[in-house]
Amino acid sequence: MKPEFEIVVVGGGLVGSLLTHSLSRAGFKVALIEKEDLQKRTVHTGRAFALSLASCNYLKALGFADALEQYGNLIEGVIVTEGEAGKGSREGILEFMPSEIGEESFGCMIQEANLLEAVGERLKKEKTVRIFSKTTVENAVFDDGSLIVNLSKGKSIPTELLAICDGSQTSLGSRLGYSHIKKNYRQGAITCTVRHEKSNEGLAYQFFMPTGPIAFLPLSNHSVCIVWTNTQKEVNRLDQLDDDQFLEELRPAFGTFLGGISLEGPRGSWSLELSMARKMVGVRYALLGDAVRKIHPLAGQGLNLGLRDAAAFLEIVESAKHRGEDIGFTTVLERYQRWRMFDSVSFAAATDFFNWAYTSSIPGNHLARQLGTGIISRITPLKGYLIREAAGLSGDIPELMRNR
Ligand SMILES: Cc1cc2nc3c(=O)[nH]c(=O)nc-3n(C[C@H](O)[C@H](O)[C@H](O)COP(=O)(O)OP(=O)(O)OC[C@H]3O[C@@H](n4cnc5c(N)ncnc54)[C@H](O)[C@@H]3O)c2cc1C
Repeated sequence: MKPEFEIVVVGGGLVGSLLTHSLSRAGFKVALIEKEDLQKRTVHTGRAFALSLASCNYLKALGFADALEQYGNLIEGVIVTEGEAGKGSREGILEFMPSEIGEESFGCMIQEANLLEAVGERLKKEKTVRIFSKTTVENAVFDDGSLIVNLSKGKSIPTELLAICDGSQTSLGSRLGYSHIKKNYRQGAITCTVRHEKSNEGLAYQFFMPTGPIAFLPLSNHSVCIVWTNTQKEVNRLDQLDDDQFLEELRPAFGTFLGGISLEGPRGSWSLELSMARKMVGVRYALLGDAVRKIHPLAGQGLNLGLRDAAAFLEIVESAKHRGEDIGFTTVLERYQRWRMFDSVSFAAATDFFNWAYTSSIPGNHLARQLGTGIISRITPLKGYLIREAAGLSGDIPELMRNR
């Protein structure tokens, strides 16, 4: 007998929730298991996401065009430079403009709280999805050709396929047989919203400081989301300060290039690590999102990669079902791994390298960075490639992420 749920999704973060929604739209019988209370999810972190053009296309295809229109703010250019955030842009500056690849923007900024709320509202209306909120997946075992997913509260559900979207602390590996390569960056990041006097003109700024990058990401013409990376010790110290004290510390790092500044809303703090799964699939399971790879936020790509996993996964299992294949078969799931593994590893390696290159003080490194910057600005195809990567438009793009 076929199990009641063809696919069980573990983890109702953005990747798991959007995957659930897309699978249900495609006619799959899905259960979503989330350990937190999905009805009362509140975000107090001041974090916002830079969504690539491909991710915006994906959200629009899933019916979130209104949310993007209401809460999103276009990223109309990216300025990357080294050294002294307080003094604004300086030599060795890299400017990336979407017009260089014939686009009007790189995508948009959206606050985490707004995106989670829009996705949560949609899930509530979903009739064909069974949601187990405040429920933890404790383990999963094979039985007679199915996978039995054991939940807290003593319930068990058999399924054909488990989509593991439980984030970077993913805990099912020891039972199912997957593991990760990990590296602690000994860095943390502070996120918050800052209002400023002068218009940012839709530009995102990234200043590489010796202790890690600081990014100013445009939420409106006069406000930015800050992602301030620093040593873990310094982040812990900044985290303890009250808002006035924090603003005093932020001012010299922010500088005056956008005029006077003030804080708006809550602050969040994050520990940074690299985590990369050695494999993405096994018998009747696949990993997606941060469960596959947790990367340094300097490129703002973690969620974008997770959404690309979700869009590719949908395409693979949908076509397998149409062909009459067992969607949990390793041969089917390996197609998903072949599609997504290279992208995952290359982004993890690239962000790791950039973080090392800009924080390392080995002799000659500064010169090498200046040279690298010069090469990128002068070689148009290379620059165009990097811009297309940032916009999520390079490589084999899943159907739902294409511009239509
Ligand atoms: C400072 C910072 C800034 C960032 N900025 C960007 C950006 O601009 N653009 C971008 O693309 N990315 C960005 N990222 C990365 C992005 O935040 C992550 O890639 C993304 O949130 C991962 O989503 P996820 O759904 O895979 O995992 P998560 O959000 O971690 O969700 C996992 C879910 O699984 C649940 N769960 C865990 N275990 C279980 C279990 N056993 N049973 C049931 N439920 C379980 C958890 O409660 C959670 O809800 C940033 C990251 C940081 C730290």
